[in-house]
Amino acid sequence: MQHEREAHVFIFPLPLQGPVNCMLKLAEILSINKIKVTFLNTDYIHQRLCSHTDVPIRFRNYPDFCFRTVPDGLPEENPRTGTEIGNLLESMDASAVPIFREMLLTAETPVTCLIADGIFTFATDVAAEIGAPLLYFDTVSPCGLWTYLCLPKLIEAGEVPFKDDNLDEMIINAPGMEGIIRRRDLPSFYRTNDLNDQIIQLVLREDEHIPLAQGVIFNTFHHLEAPILAQLRTVCPNIYALGPLHAHLKARLASWEARPTTSNSIWEEDGSCISWLDKQPSKSVVYVSIGSLAVMTRDQMCEIWHGLVNSGVRFLWVRRPGSVTGDSDETGIDQELARGTEERGCIVRWAPQEEVLAHPAVGGFLTHSGWNSTLESMVEGKPMICWPYFVDQQVNSRYVEVVWKVGLDMKDSCDRVVVEKMVREVMESRKDEFLKGAEEVAESARAAVSPGGSSFADMDRLIEEIKTMKIAIK
Ligand code: UDP
Repeated sequence: MQHEREAHVFIFPLPLQGPVNCMLKLAEILSINKIKVTFLNTDYIHQRLCSHTDVPIRFRNYPDFCFRTVPDGLPEENPRTGTEIGNLLESMDASAVPIFREMLLTAETPVTCLIADGIFTFATDVAAEIGAPLLYFDTVSPCGLWTYLCLPKLIEAGEVPFKDDNLDEMIINAPGMEGIIRRRDLPSFYRTNDLNDQIIQLVLREDEHIPLAQGVIFNTFHHLEAPILAQLRTVCPNIYALGPLHAHLKARLASWEARPTTSNSIWEEDGSCISWLDKQPSKSVVYVSIGSLAVMTRDQMCEIWHGLVNSGVRFLWVRRPGSVTGDSDETGIDQELARGTEERGCIVRWAPQEEVLAHPAVGGFLTHSGWNSTLESMVEGKPMICWPYFVDQQVNSRYVEVVWKVGLDMKDSCDRVVVEKMVREVMESRKDEFLKGAEEVAESARAAVSPGGSSFADMDRLIEEIKTMKIAIK
């Protein structure tokens, strides 16, 4: 029997900065549209959001919105960096999933739609149990997800594991990516000989579960990834391309009330870098950040540092606490580095990134190619120098250089000479060319999230469908 109920969306993001950030933006758009939303955070994430942002106050504007929390099961001191994702998921299976299931089964207002991260394969069973539709939200890039979905075929065709060490070999069995993707442009964890590897197995499980959802949400826009979205529709026909979500939320808030969006950061933002940027000439600064999960060795940090200083270009560098592995001691650094940094650099622990990228003094972004960072850079028309770390980032950086033509891919090299050369190219010798390409992409991104745009229309469709979703009453 089907019975109509008040729409109630339950959102469960992967408890990491990027996914939490963009799912909160989606939650806010649904709340503006008077849809009841429950948002499930881990205690770790929630406590950090409450310490470093106005999230609790901001969401009090929406009477039908509420946060719930679950433990992630990891010890407090676990760094929760990229290398820990497998452990995080395993530990959540034991600690968070049973509580999450119980929450849904006993919800006072029955949940009529579950939105969960695409990696949460357990969500299909729980959604079936409560009789509610499940929408997966894959917060990685669609081109990245497509390389996940192609993995069974790549294994069957003998392309993965790689037969030899030649990472420049083109990939053949990823439809739509012919002539674009080389072995080195696949997610870095494909560089294994062991198909029983924990992350490879996670990806294969995700591949089986994605088609079981009623729809898949992406933080992208039609104009950017139309060919890949067409490929994805062969696996999951009902796709909502709602991005770039940070710009989309701003567009919706602008018509709702004049209120700036503020941060969803789980680290304290150092606003002093904005005052520093205010003193720099237009488009003179390269912004450097490897996001919330990536790490680098001290040697890699020194190569980047030398490259930046040797380029002579001004730089704003985010050095997230814990992002340099091993010995991160900076005593005894080169005098030349210290002088170059004092003259032209600014180093902070965490920055208000959207504001930084929007700042007129910023002319380029040396990034790890995380999907949120890539979209945030695109919306502001800032060309990128890409140094990918893992998951979808190897794919994103390739697309930035050869498909979207908004930057350079430094992939697999971290050498001061290469850093210097690429920074000079993006910021000086090929500046006009990259800025022109980046501005075109920015215009199409902004158009997508404006009334009449493709992402705006997809969001309206999602809102309408959520309002009419029914649960099966047993
Ligand atoms: N970010 C930030 N301040 C910083 C560095 C990053 O606010 O100093 C934000 C950035 O705006 C983005 C998120 O952290 O929204 C990082 O997500 P992304 O998908 O780019 O990479 P991840 O951290 O998941 O690897």
